[in-house]
Amino acid sequence: MQKTVLAALLALLALGGNARADDYPSHPITLVVPFSAGGPTDSMARIMADRMKTTLGQSLLIENVTGAGGSIGVGRVARAAPDGYTVSIGHLGTHVANGAIYKLGYDLVADFEPVVLLPSNPMVFVSTNAVPAKSLGELLAWMKAKPTAPTAGTAGAGSASHVAGLYFESVTGIKLQFVPYRGTAPAMTDLVAGQIQVMIDQTSNSINQIRAGTIRAYAVTDEKRLETAADIPTVDEAGLPGFHMQLWSGFWVPKGTPKEIVAKLNAAAVEAMNDPAVRAKFENLGLVMPPKDQLTPEALGAFQKSEIAKWWPMLKAANVKVE
Ligand code: ASP
Repeated sequence: MQKTVLAALLALLALGGNARADDYPSHPITLVVPFSAGGPTDSMARIMADRMKTTLGQSLLIENVTGAGGSIGVGRVARAAPDGYTVSIGHLGTHVANGAIYKLGYDLVADFEPVVLLPSNPMVFVSTNAVPAKSLGELLAWMKAKPTAPTAGTAGAGSASHVAGLYFESVTGIKLQFVPYRGTAPAMTDLVAGQIQVMIDQTSNSINQIRAGTIRAYAVTDEKRLETAADIPTVDEAGLPGFHMQLWSGFWVPKGTPKEIVAKLNAAAVEAMNDPAVRAKFENLGLVMPPKDQLTPEALGAFQKSEIAKWWPMLKAANVKVE
């Protein structure tokens, strides 16, 4: 009798396992944004979630789990069940830099399945309007002449804005006084108000304030100007040649998530990025769609590893102290 019950239970479990992949998704999916609401990662997550629900037939609910450069939110996904119902959105900071800066309780490569590469954009040098500089050259001169290091807003150690700041320090020898926030949305509020002086920000976060004239832009970290804000010079034109940085993003799920589920999430994300209405929203924020041949989970995995090889030496040399 007991044996029969056990066999029936095992059969049920096996069925359940298959059904999970076949019926996926049968209830809403949580998309963990590791930074504040209203910031660049949150905005991207909301644009994607809104369109992906049409394909998946289930909502993607955004949860902002903030702090420690996004490493808390990503850790939440690393420990979640590998069933496709908890998805991580992150970027060069959270899924590359944090591994060189924090003692994470998880491995950025071994504990995740990559799903898809998301849009990217260059960073942009911005300041509060009170800073007396009208060009990148003048901004650098002002920074060098100041008796104290300029205050630079970041989304925490290891975030994109912080990585860009460390890169800037290593290239120019100019020191910044980093002021960490839980995302660049609250940092932007303080930049506009003049509580902090500069930021090397994701263009998608700064663009609307630049257009409104509430902050000043100096240069984008790319070889070419942005189509959507063509008056901002490139770093090469403005006096920091070669200071290139593309801030890319992606989706990941916990290691061990069934391949079919990863494929369904990937297909829904690719469909969203092919939708002209979605593309228009991203392009208006200065974001560039990923190349079509880079949209497989394998491509994201390989790219993430190449970015780890590229950025970790500089980040480790910076010897960032975190609490
Ligand atoms: N992506 C972060 C945010 O959404 C900002 C950063 O990494 O600098 O706030």
